[in-house]
Amino acid sequence: MSVFHYDKDDAGIVTVTMDMTGPVNAMNAEYQTAMTETVERLEAETDLRGVVFASAKKVFFAGGDLNDLVKVQPEEVEQFFQGLQATKSVLRRIEKLPVPVAAAINGAALGGGFEIALCCNYRVAWNDRSVQLGLPEVTLGLLPGGGGVVRMTRLLGLAAALPYLTEGTRVTPDKALAAGMIHATVDTLEELVPNAKAWILGQEDIQAAATQPWDTKGYKVPGGGINSPGVSQLVMIAPAMLYSKTRGLLPAPARILDCAVEALRLDFDEALTVESRGLANLVITPVAKNMISTFFFGLNKINGGASRPKGVEKRPTQKVGVLGAGMMGQGIAYSSAMAGIQVVLKDISVEAAEKGKAYTEKLLAKRVAKGRMTEEKKQAVLDLILPTASNEDLQGCDLIIEAVFENMKLKHQITAELEGYLTEDGVWGSNTSTLPITQLADGSSKPENFIGIHFFSPVDKMPLVEIICGEKTSDEALAKAFDYTVQIKKTPIVVNDSLGFFTSRTFGTYLDEGVRLLDEGLHPVKIDNLGKAVGMPVGPLAVYDEVSMELSRKANATWEEMGVVDKWGDGSVARKVVGIMIDEHGRGGRYHGGGFYQYHEDGSKEIWSGLYDIFYKPEFSIDDQEVKDRLLFRQVIEALKCLESGVLRSEEDGNIGSIMGIGAPPWTGGLLQFVKTYGYGNFVSRCEALAAKYGDRFNPPQIAKDRA
Ligand code: NAD
Repeated sequence: MSVFHYDKDDAGIVTVTMDMTGPVNAMNAEYQTAMTETVERLEAETDLRGVVFASAKKVFFAGGDLNDLVKVQPEEVEQFFQGLQATKSVLRRIEKLPVPVAAAINGAALGGGFEIALCCNYRVAWNDRSVQLGLPEVTLGLLPGGGGVVRMTRLLGLAAALPYLTEGTRVTPDKALAAGMIHATVDTLEELVPNAKAWILGQEDIQAAATQPWDTKGYKVPGGGINSPGVSQLVMIAPAMLYSKTRGLLPAPARILDCAVEALRLDFDEALTVESRGLANLVITPVAKNMISTFFFGLNKINGGASRPKGVEKRPTQKVGVLGAGMMGQGIAYSSAMAGIQVVLKDISVEAAEKGKAYTEKLLAKRVAKGRMTEEKKQAVLDLILPTASNEDLQGCDLIIEAVFENMKLKHQITAELEGYLTEDGVWGSNTSTLPITQLADGSSKPENFIGIHFFSPVDKMPLVEIICGEKTSDEALAKAFDYTVQIKKTPIVVNDSLGFFTSRTFGTYLDEGVRLLDEGLHPVKIDNLGKAVGMPVGPLAVYDEVSMELSRKANATWEEMGVVDKWGDGSVARKVVGIMIDEHGRGGRYHGGGFYQYHEDGSKEIWSGLYDIFYKPEFSIDDQEVKDRLLFRQVIEALKCLESGVLRSEEDGNIGSIMGIGAPPWTGGLLQFVKTYGYGNFVSRCEALAAKYGDRFNPPQIAKDRA
C-alpha cells in the first residue's frame, strides 16, 4: 500500500493523505514514488470532481530531505539537477489536472511543504500557532527549488515575495491569509478537509477553478511585470540592498533574487528550470553545507537535549532567586517571569531591586504598545517578580542565580550566606563571566549543586546560555540548569570549567587581534571594516568599546591575583594599548564616556581622532585577506583548542555557541564547522603561514593536524 492514502468519496473527490514512513512527510525517494503513482492514478480517473492533499502527520509536509542535500558533491550536480526537474514535473502535473486541487494544511508547511501547497488551486490552513508557513531555505544557504521562488513571485509580485524568499520569513495562517499566500483558515482541525471539499463542490466553473493564476490567460502579476516602472526600478536597486545586508558572504539570497527576477522575465516552465539550476549551484557550496550542518542538524541535536544528562528526571523551575538587579539580573528576571516562573529579585536595597523590576515593566509596556501583549498579561508577568532586599524572601527557591559584581570574595560570601534558603535539592547558579566555577563552588557547602549559568547581554535579546560544569557539579544540577534554560526559551550549550569558559575565551582572541592590528599601525577604520567584511556583526575595536576596556582591565587584575594572567596566550599588547587608552587618555570604553570611538548624543559615533596620532602608521601595509584571516583564524584556533582540551564537550556546542554567543559569521556554520569545509589540510597550511609571519599564536592546534 502507498504511503499516500488514496480515498475517493461519493462526490468524486479524492483525498490524498500523506503518511510517509518516519515522523514526518519529506521529499525523499519514498515521496517520489508515492507522489508519481498518485498523480498517475489521478490523471487516469474518469469521473474526478476534485483532489484534496492532506497529512496524517502533525506536520503537513516537512520539505526536502536535508540528509540527502548535505551530501551532494560537485560531480553529482547534473544528476541532482535532473532529479529536481523530475520532482518539479510531477508537481506541475498536479496543477495541470483538469479538476480543482486543494491543500488542507493541518501543520507546518515550510519549504517543500509549502511548495506542494503552492501547486494547489486552493490552500486552507488550520489557524493554530503550531502551523507555520513559508520558505525558509535561505536560512540554510539554499533556495526553494520545488517551484517556490517562481510561484511565490508570480503569486505575490516581486516586491512582496522577496522578503519571504530572501529572508525566509515564516508566518502563521492568519498572516499568510492577509498576505495572500493562502485562501482561507479554519478554527478547528475537524473543519479542515470538509472546508476544502466544500470549496471544490462550490466551484461552478470547474476549468477556471482548476487553473492556476499564472496559467490563466491575461493574468497580471501583482505589483507589475518586469517592465513596469516600479519593478524595473526594484530590479536595479535590489542587488545593492541585498549586498549591504549579506556583505557578499551569502550566495543564496543573491541567487534567489536572480531567480525571482527570471520568474517574471521568462516563460513559466523555463523559469522553473532556472530555479533548479540555482539550487543545484547552491547545494554544493561550502556555505550551504556549513549552514545545514549547524543550523539544522546541530541545533536540532542541541535542542533535542544531546548535552543533557540521560536518565535524570525533569524538574521544572518554580521559584528562582535572582541576586543582583543590575544589567544582567534584571534581564534574567524578565526572561524567567516571561516563562511563568516566580522570581525573587534581590539587591542591596529595595530601591535597587525595584529599579531592576522596572526594566521588565519597560519592556512589557513596549509589547503592549505594539499590540503584542494585553495589559492583563503584562500585569500577570509583573506580579511574578518580587523586588526585595530581604534574604527571607528567597526561602523555597529551587534555583538561585547570582549576578552580583564580578568579585570572588563577594560571590563566596553571598553563597555561604544565602544557599541555605534553597530547597533541599535546589541549585545555585553563577552568572560569572570570568571566574572559574570550581573555585567559586569552594564557597558552597554543596558544590555538587553549584553550576555556571552564563547569560549574554542584553539577556532579553540574546538566545544563548552557556552552562558551565565545575569539577564537582552533579548531573542533577546540570539537568536542572539545562531544563531551566529551555524553560525560558533559550538555547543551552554545556561546557567544562576553564578560564573564560568557551565563549569569552574565544571571543577574547578577536578583540586581541584587532588591538594588535591597531598597534601595528593599521588604519582603525580598516580594522573594523575588515572585521565586518569577514562576517562578524561588529568590528573588534567597536566591540571592545562596548565590552569596555575598564572591564577587561578589571578581569586582568583578577587573573593576576589568581596567578593565571596570560594562561591562554600573550596579552601584553592588549594590556599596553588598554593602558595607553585609560591611563594616558581616560578612554575606558563607551560606557565610560568613549574609547576607541567618540560617541555623540544623537547616537552616532566615529573613530576617536587620537588613535591616528598614537597608533596609525600610514606606511604600514598589509593585504586585506591577511587581516580577515587573522581576525577569523584566531577564533577558530581557540575554539579548536577548547575542543581538544575538553572545555567543549561537543562540536555542536562549539558551533551554536560561537554563532549565538560570539557572533561568528553565519556563513561559517560556526567556528568548528568552518574548518570542515575549508579543509583541515588547508587550514593547517594557512595557520603555519600565518604563524611564520605573525607569531606562535597562529600555530595550528594538534587536533587540526591530526584530522588533516
Ligand atoms: P551590575 O554592576 O550591572 O549589577 C550588579 C548588581 O549587583 C548591582 O545592582 C549591585 O547593587 C548588586 N549587588 C552587589 N552586591 C550585592 C549583594 N550582596 N546582594 C545583592 N545584590 C548585590 O553588573 P552586571 O553587568 O549585571 O554583572 C553581574 C554579573 O554578571 C557579573 O558577575 C558579571 O561578570 C556577569 N556578566 C556580565 C555580563 C555583561 O555583559 N555585563 C555578561 C555576562 C555575565
